[in-house]
Amino acid sequence: MRIVVDADLCQGHAVCQDEAPNLFAVPKKGTVQLLAADPADELEAARAAVRYCPTQALSIVEDQ
Ligand code: SF4
Repeated sequence: MRIVVDADLCQGHAVCQDEAPNLFAVPKKGTVQLLAADPADELEAARAAVRYCPTQALSIVEDQ
């Protein structure tokens, strides 16, 4: 399981950082940086970040 960011969609709103500060960092001017690709330890926070990202730039994919 891993987090995927579509950098073209991210507009730096930082909602993801608010929801899951251990997974996402958003600089003042810029787009999201992924701090940990595997959300397993913080799945609830990761799902909230995906849900509330205003541009739908985030997704969680299941590895086979
Ligand atoms: S909430 Fe979405 S648009 Fe905002 S910084 Fe995070 S990924 Fe980018």
